Amino acid sequence: MEKEELLKQGRNPIHLICPQCGSAARYDIADRVYHCALCGSDTSPGEQLDKSRQWQKLRQKKLKEDVKLSSTLLYSCPGCGAKVIVREGEALGTCSFCGGSLVRREYMGNDAFPESVIPFRISLEDAREKLKKWNRTKASLKVKRALSKHIDDLEAYYLPYQFVRGPIECSISRDMSERTYHCGSYVDEIVVNASRQLNNEVLDAAEPFDFEECRDFNFGYVADHKVKMQDIDDQELLRRSKEEVTKDCRKPIEKAMHSTGISIYADNGELERLPLLLPMYVIRKPGLDVAVNGQSGKIAVSLNETVDVNRFWFVEPLMTMLILGLIALFWSKDLELGLLTMAVVGCIVFTAFGQDRSSHPMLKVYTSDRSGKGEKQIRPVFREQTEKGTVNAEISFFPLSRIIFYTIGIILFNAMSALLAIFFQWCRDLPISDLHLLYAGLWLVISVPMTFIFWIAFLRRDIFDCPVVKQILPNGKRRRIRDEKGEANIRSFIDFFRKFEIEEFWVGMLLLGLPTLMFVMSVYLIMTG
Ligand SMILES: [Zn+2]
Ligand SMILES: [Zn+2]
Repeated sequence: MEKEELLKQGRNPIHLICPQCGSAARYDIADRVYHCALCGSDTSPGEQLDKSRQWQKLRQKKLKEDVKLSSTLLYSCPGCGAKVIVREGEALGTCSFCGGSLVRREYMGNDAFPESVIPFRISLEDAREKLKKWNRTKASLKVKRALSKHIDDLEAYYLPYQFVRGPIECSISRDMSERTYHCGSYVDEIVVNASRQLNNEVLDAAEPFDFEECRDFNFGYVADHKVKMQDIDDQELLRRSKEEVTKDCRKPIEKAMHSTGISIYADNGELERLPLLLPMYVIRKPGLDVAVNGQSGKIAVSLNETVDVNRFWFVEPLMTMLILGLIALFWSKDLELGLLTMAVVGCIVFTAFGQDRSSHPMLKVYTSDRSGKGEKQIRPVFREQTEKGTVNAEISFFPLSRIIFYTIGIILFNAMSALLAIFFQWCRDLPISDLHLLYAGLWLVISVPMTFIFWIAFLRRDIFDCPVVKQILPNGKRRRIRDEKGEANIRSFIDFFRKFEIEEFWVGMLLLGLPTLMFVMSVYLIMTG
């Protein structure tokens, strides 16, 4: 009975429900519909979007009428542009966000009110107590020094946000690869800060919120707490929202692509955007930004310091260099050979890894706990073009067969001189123990760097340009549909030589001759000592 009533009124679209039966609906990326597990009905994203917009329009009309009856006032700050609604009779001195003085003004037709709100669960006293306790026990000395004298300045605000949810279609390109990938994904419960004065990173760090507690907004909420209105223009809001959407879908796509070096272009066409208010306690002072989640009590503090997140880029190449150098050293028990290997490998890996390195300064934010948006990992579904049109697909770069193939190939290549010598010895019926296997190191000096060059410039790229593509059939089974391997192998081989402009005969001979010479010498010395 109650459910039917809710359906008739139109329920707040932040709670995603099936329009037929009112139970929870879930988006299916492969089928591109909202699916209800209870009654089995499907809703297209377009329908869902229409319903959302209709509901918003109705609420907006009602709120415009209500504001005339509500005993609330609107203040704005000429300094920073903040717009704040308070109940009549509340004394408002200075702007909490810039310290300027506030001016009262009339509501205007374009003052859109948010349609939804998550109410405060924690009182101001409790929030201050929480902050004090955290500052006393957990905060670093730097934070303590900055925060201690300002804790009493903590103020409660309903802050303006935009809730974003819906399906997205992404185009992805990967560094060092020419192939473009397409995939469908889904974002949910993204909230975008719609304030100009408040720091995005700090507010982000004070998330998440529990949207189960989301309610329809009415002016009764202003009686308890001040309400800050959106004060950035829609274009800026759209930009911020696109940024957050891309950030949100990035992790699962990075995982599927086996790389962080990817660029994503997300089509935001069918996303639902719903303005809402979130409960937050804030302090804003020069060099200090504090946000305390009014629902969960999570604390986020910034002292406006930045750190370079990419500052440990050298760890990977350094480890590679040391490990390979030590292997060479232990294997040959020859210090010079070990150092030489280390130097050669070092030159290659540092050049390779240092290439696309750029510094990424990020604001340092201290938080009371690490809880983030629930780890509902949404796996992207790849879309691949076939003769029969676009199909849903699963893409993998490192199937077992490939790993085995490449591992064996690399081992064989590097052990080639020793293996050949053993083979000759075996043919001549002489004991293997007579061989001087230490001289295999002579070939390794050149084969290890060659392996690296091939891996970095050729094989690695080859792998990512030619994924194993499996179509996802409607019954859930997978069918392999493509193998571009042969073609791309040739293509990247040609590219490799073109890149170094190896056209002149003698350069080619040198590149081919030196390894050959080392190889022959290595085999000879292993056999004769
Ligand atoms: Zn249903
Ligand atoms: Zn201001």
